[in-house]
Amino acid sequence: MPTRAYAAQSATTPLGPFTIERREPLPRDVEIDILFCGVCHSDLHFARNEWGMTAYPLVPGHEILGRVSRIGREVTRFKVGDTAAVGCIVDSCRSCASCRSGLEQFCLGGAVFSYGWPDKHSGGMTFGGYSEKIVCDEAFTLKVPTNLDPARAAPLLCAGITTYSPLRKWGAAAGKKVGVVGLGGLGHMGVKFAHAMGAHTVLFTTSEGKIADGKRLGADEVVISRDAQAMAGHAGSFDLILDTVSADHDLNAYLALLKLDATLVVVGAPPNPQPVNLFGLLMPRRNLSGSLIGGIAQTQEMLDFCGQHGIACDIELIRMRQINEAYERMLRSDVKYRFVIDMASIKG
Ligand code: NAP
Ligand code: ZN
Ligand code: ZN
Repeated sequence: MPTRAYAAQSATTPLGPFTIERREPLPRDVEIDILFCGVCHSDLHFARNEWGMTAYPLVPGHEILGRVSRIGREVTRFKVGDTAAVGCIVDSCRSCASCRSGLEQFCLGGAVFSYGWPDKHSGGMTFGGYSEKIVCDEAFTLKVPTNLDPARAAPLLCAGITTYSPLRKWGAAAGKKVGVVGLGGLGHMGVKFAHAMGAHTVLFTTSEGKIADGKRLGADEVVISRDAQAMAGHAGSFDLILDTVSADHDLNAYLALLKLDATLVVVGAPPNPQPVNLFGLLMPRRNLSGSLIGGIAQTQEMLDFCGQHGIACDIELIRMRQINEAYERMLRSDVKYRFVIDMASIKG
């Protein structure tokens, strides 16, 4: 069915209106009228082909939340009128070792990501959430706790799970000192989650204007990362640091803050390689890792955790046509702390 969307037609053109074709719901599909879609920095990297893998036209958006409008005849977990959400993954092989252990994002047969990825059904590419509807297999559709504000819950589908998953894997908890680098969409959720998990939480930011917000969001301490003396005061003291920075920056400065056997986990995806001085890993023995979103079951666990703890994102609601301006502001780190598109505005 023809569906209104917003697309980038090339790496250098602004996003604009575009009509896509969504499939009619198959027996296990859920059709969702999209109410809100978060704006992730990955949308910007992708729209501008900064990772060198974009096919155009590209309809970004993987923080998708809406209302179920139709269901296929075999759907059991959703009914028309339910609030439902779709994140970064819309399909996978469902049988490989990764899929069987709930790590669909690392599917050995190849996960299908929500946009710009080969779509088994259409034969073209997948189209993301900057659109009025999406059709998704119920196995990849998430339930949203009813006590969460839907606009503020939408960014949990990427910013939420991408920070929740590594904090869980590397054991953020009471008695641990956890750093979060960058207070953007991911970072502000990292701070909220690390605090909710009971860790002593330290925010590293380049923006002096974010100190008060960092503390309000749950940081016990805020360090301006350009202040060498303040950084040195934390040398060798962290159990875990989660790095959410989207641009070139010095990883070595954070490796130096880790204890023996502690880990720097990178989730930010700057397009350029980032130099690492290996001595920072050798002495004392430290780990450098990465993490990519999270599997479907853990995404549901994260949503339920947010429902139980009343956690949602701090957002600025925008109209669809403001998306290009929002990208420019995101590049200036001028967003508190996630733009969310009110999708009703796509109708004009
Ligand atoms: P964002 O909202 O733009 O936040 C990025 C933050 O990084 C900024 O707010 C800023 O924080 C800091 N920063 C920006 N430029 C910097 C620089 N030159 N030096 C130091 N700090 C800088 O972006 P986001 O949506 O949170 O995404 C962050 C990154 O994660 C992107 O690269 C995105 O593609 C990636 N990502 C990865 C995954 C995954 O699964 N691994 C998932 C989603 C997104 P301060 O103002 O506090 O310094
Ligand atoms: Zn994202
Ligand atoms: Zn698989």
